[in-house]
Amino acid sequence: MKCQCCHEQEVSYAWQPFGPGKDANTAFTLPGNHYRGFPVIKVCFACKSAIETGDFPVHFTYKGFRYIARGNEVKEVKPSFWDGGTSDLNGLGSATMIMKDAPDGSELVAMVVDPTFVPSFVALPDLIEACEQIAQTFADDDKLTREQGLAVARARLALKAAKEVQS
Ligand SMILES: [Zn+2]
Repeated sequence: MKCQCCHEQEVSYAWQPFGPGKDANTAFTLPGNHYRGFPVIKVCFACKSAIETGDFPVHFTYKGFRYIARGNEVKEVKPSFWDGGTSDLNGLGSATMIMKDAPDGSELVAMVVDPTFVPSFVALPDLIEACEQIAQTFADDDKLTREQGLAVARARLALKAAKEVQS
């Protein structure tokens, strides 16, 4: 059987990127020895190695959803987000739920308290993450130009609107 990532080499391992464990010891087993009840991707030796070391990005699909794995991190490729409606925050106002389709139904991505940001977050699934990276990278940088400082402040503002849900 061919590897489900590169579709070239023969399968050497059963890979379980979505559980039950995230570290390499539980994620890779010999075919047939995998944990029941969790998705299995059959991979070759080279793809396993790349998944662990990050030497090259490894692509795979599961239930029609596309993923990329690199350095033991698995990310969905361009997930599509949608407005899941408004939810009450225990009397502390309301927030719009941003949802995404997932293999098992749908998943809550973020609760957005400022409705003006909802269309942007829905249109650009990477936006929340991009804002986080900007805010983190420049958190304590006092050598920014005025324009750079303004850009970082905007990213922080967008981030404040989206209270990301820990999964
Ligand atoms: Zn492969």
